[in-house]
Amino acid sequence: MFENLQDRLGSILNGLTGRGALSEADVSAALREVRRALLEADVALDVVRSFTDRVREKAVGAEILKSIKPGQMVVKIVHDELIEMLGGEGVGVDLHAAAPVVIMMVGLQGSGKTTTSAKIAHRLTTREKKKVLMASLDTRRPAAQEQLRQLGAQANIDTLPIISGQSPTDIAARAVQAARLGGHDVVILDTAGRTHIDEPLMVEMADIKKRSNPHEILLVADSLTGQDAVNLARSFDERVGITGLVLTRMDGDGRGGAALSMRAVTGKPIKLIGVGEKMSELEEFHPRRIADRILG
Ligand code: GDP
Repeated sequence: MFENLQDRLGSILNGLTGRGALSEADVSAALREVRRALLEADVALDVVRSFTDRVREKAVGAEILKSIKPGQMVVKIVHDELIEMLGGEGVGVDLHAAAPVVIMMVGLQGSGKTTTSAKIAHRLTTREKKKVLMASLDTRRPAAQEQLRQLGAQANIDTLPIISGQSPTDIAARAVQAARLGGHDVVILDTAGRTHIDEPLMVEMADIKKRSNPHEILLVADSLTGQDAVNLARSFDERVGITGLVLTRMDGDGRGGAALSMRAVTGKPIKLIGVGEKMSELEEFHPRRIADRILG
């Protein structure tokens, strides 16, 4: 589908065929279209800026070849740069640590954190034959704890029995202890979300981290998050320190610009993507596919 940008760039640049190299002015005109395409894909403004700077550096002075139209040439530079910025292929969760390996899931309410916790547990159980224990640390919303318990029961994955009145950090410690005693390979901590980032949430996340020593801290974020993606990823990364990202709702019709924004501000890998509500609808991340989608 990315002929779209190619067409736009073609009409600006293809008349240059036969000239020596792309000038600053040619590239600036092309970058206005690139910028528009990225903003349409919901890439955050700061990230659009740094991205177009990088493309400018590569494109100005590039020799115009006979074998390829100048418009296509710039699209290729943009495409390659997007893939580079999006990082490598998603590798899934890292389990290279002593058992029980603790995976802490963080993110805003409604981002898909509980569903993703269960999807990851399901994946580790079925594909890697791991014994997994899940625990809900959302003490403010009993319904969230019950949701995780039900998902566990459906997918045949152990969940930590709920004891009302315990603090999130105490539940985290109890989960790790229970996993040790129960011979679980992995513990997944589904932490509480909020509708927006606030100080108490960040303090709670930092306390849980201290008590449970997670090997992975995965930020679950809705791929339809637009300009807020940068603040979200930056706050969680600075305050809690994430090890990777999981983007949900990639089955929706969003263009996936949040993937680029979050990856760019944190430098952390996008490990997995959610592509539906079902337990099996979790996939590896392929930067090329997202790059195509961002370019529309
Ligand atoms: P939480 O509040 O962050 O724990 O969010 P939930 O896990 O409860 O998810 C909120 C809603 O999003 C639920 O209806 C999920 O089924 C849905 N959901 C989660 N991940 C995906 C996804 O990848 N694609 C789609 N279409 N829906 C999802």
